[in-house]
Amino acid sequence: MATERSEDYLEAIDSIIGLKGYARVKDVSEILGVGPSSVTEMFQKLSEDGYINYEKYGGATLTSKGKKIAKNTRKKHQMLQDFLLILGVDDKIADMDACRVEHVLNPETLDRLTKFVEFVQIKEKEPRWLEHFNYYYETGRYVECTRDTSDECPVHGKKGNKSK
Ligand code: MN
Repeated sequence: MATERSEDYLEAIDSIIGLKGYARVKDVSEILGVGPSSVTEMFQKLSEDGYINYEKYGGATLTSKGKKIAKNTRKKHQMLQDFLLILGVDDKIADMDACRVEHVLNPETLDRLTKFVEFVQIKEKEPRWLEHFNYYYETGRYVECTRDTSDECPVHGKKGNKSK
């Protein structure tokens, strides 16, 4: 099984390959903020483990085994980042935290979160409860809002700041 660090490297290599077809030590060093000698060392290890094809003076490409892990990790990263953005977490923090959490969650949790993100982004046209959550986050106040009482709702009602 790939380590967390290998997964991050493969993820970075994959995104660089998407741009230029191969990844050099320098590119990965910039993206991950790691010194070139550590990247070279990791490239050798990833190559020994069969995740990348690496030629010392050329660039690295992914083997099918490496590609599978890279795509999977990127998918998890994106989903977790989206989830955190739904909660209202700042962009940069969402990206950083997604990159850490992506390695450790159980498949069931990932599946639930994936469905949740899909539900909020695609199925739910107007996630009123999410607006209520944002209101709760900002003010600490929970408001009851049903179809019958929504006129009085501080988030959705006529008297509120938003009318939907
Ligand atoms: Mn990561």
